[in-house]
Amino acid sequence: PQTLRLILGDQLNHKHSWFAKTDDSILYVMMEMKQETGYVMHHVQKITAFFLAMREFAGWLEERGHQVLYLKLDDSKNKQSLPENLSGLIDVNEIQKFQYLLPDEYRLDKQLKSFCKDLKIESQAYDTEHFFTQREEMADFFKGKKSFLMETFYRHMRKKHEVLMDGGEPEGGKWNYDQLNRKKLTDPSLLQPPKRFRKNIQDVLDMLEKMEVKHFGEIDPENFAWAISRAEGLKVLNYFCEELLPNFGTFQDAMHTEHAFLFHSRLSFLMNSKLLSPKEVIDKVIEAYHQAKGKIEISQVEGFIRQILGWREFMRGVYWAKMPDYAKLNKLNHRRSLPKWYWSGDTKMNCLRHAISQSLTHAYAHHIQRLMITGNFALLANVHPNEVDEWYLGIYIDAIEWVEIPNTRGMSQFADGGIVGTKPYVSSANYIAKMSNYCKGCHYSKSKKVGEKACPFNSLYWNFYDRHRALFENNQRVNMMYRIWDKKPAEERTAILEQAEEYLKSLDQL
Ligand code: FAD
Ligand code: SF4
Repeated sequence: PQTLRLILGDQLNHKHSWFAKTDDSILYVMMEMKQETGYVMHHVQKITAFFLAMREFAGWLEERGHQVLYLKLDDSKNKQSLPENLSGLIDVNEIQKFQYLLPDEYRLDKQLKSFCKDLKIESQAYDTEHFFTQREEMADFFKGKKSFLMETFYRHMRKKHEVLMDGGEPEGGKWNYDQLNRKKLTDPSLLQPPKRFRKNIQDVLDMLEKMEVKHFGEIDPENFAWAISRAEGLKVLNYFCEELLPNFGTFQDAMHTEHAFLFHSRLSFLMNSKLLSPKEVIDKVIEAYHQAKGKIEISQVEGFIRQILGWREFMRGVYWAKMPDYAKLNKLNHRRSLPKWYWSGDTKMNCLRHAISQSLTHAYAHHIQRLMITGNFALLANVHPNEVDEWYLGIYIDAIEWVEIPNTRGMSQFADGGIVGTKPYVSSANYIAKMSNYCKGCHYSKSKKVGEKACPFNSLYWNFYDRHRALFENNQRVNMMYRIWDKKPAEERTAILEQAEEYLKSLDQL
């Protein structure tokens, strides 16, 4: 071979133009490396899913007649680092050209750029042909503007890509149906079981042990349930359109002790690894909507499409506009450590116990659990965003930095001072009780702010606003909270702040 082409673990795009025809002068390389298992401690299901998906993809390429060199983690030739492995391969195979697909993570982008700078042979980077937008496209769209507004960007994307449009107007007459999409799940019999696959993955676990890869979380060696191939991914997508889409929007923000997935699609790993493209997901959802001839409401469909065409592309845009500084932002100057029970679920707070245990069991939590339970509490407890980021980047099957960091540091922790979100996502027990059945079985009392068994969210909530008055008092979306706070009698305010202080001192015991 004359050309070496690198495919990273999250670049498994079957439809990429690279693979349209075979060419004997090209060698594709894919590798499992300690560099990737070790940059943060990962959930064991996340590592397993990526390795399985990569192996499956390499097999698919070979079946189509492409030349593939696949380095398993325990291969004796594996030097466990990207530049070292690549240099070795280039020498041994007398390669004349090196080509790679643009990485989505800053870390890998930098590493590959610097590798290519020192290379004696020609090198070239290609688009992954996955996203709707180019890396810089969103930043260009907002050029000269002080802040990035997701809603403005989303409308632009709807028009530009003609998604759910009726001429120049949004289909159904409205851009956003959020108001209809905020129901609690009171009748679990509406739910469908999640689409599961059963794989024996003992060999992968043995390899991780042999190679001393650190990981956490649970896994069933005989029944690995996540979809890891394109064929399985398409089944998950079909299942979503047929069974879950009709209720997706309505219960998008609902949480339930017994049900982890509700009406969520579980497509994030499949899209983030590029096994499925966002365009094909959206096209399929719209096709299902049209075929249902009025049986699926537009609010369900729009709510879903906004997440992918809007939020997902928006987060990518923020990442490329603001990295590398973004990863260090801590605008609220939060310094505390993450409570220990984030790693075990062992807390008396029922909402956190469920959201964390479920994450450890499935490497999954849906958006509102991430934002309004685990994220909300970390923010109210003034946890350092570095620790929060590390947790989110490790625990979820879909966690890749380009999408994890703007969601965590930005939307959830407000550590970017309001680039992603225009207000902090905090709440007291009120919201949690409204959207879930968590409070019913809780050790703490949702309606108490102070005293024995008072729900910690309540005092920490007011403590947060009080502490950050200078930053939020003039923010139109939340300044009403200061009017409510200031109207409370002085003794009540003092008691609430004292309660918060007590809880902050003993976070590990909550
Ligand atoms: P569904 O609810 O079915 O939504 C459909 C799709 O929309 C998702 O698959 C996803 O691709 C996209 N989507 C939805 N919300 C967002 C969002 N806020 N940003 C980007 N895409 C979105 N998503 C990740 O893919 N990786 C992460 O590492 C990640 N970290 C997060 C951290 C925090 C603190 C928060 C609040 C959210 C995070 N999200 C992340 C976004 C979202 O929670 C997940 O995409 C979603 O829960 C995945 O489950 P699903 O596929 O069933 O999603
Ligand atoms: Fe969570 Fe408070 Fe409700 Fe308990 S009472 S589940 S801690 S919000």
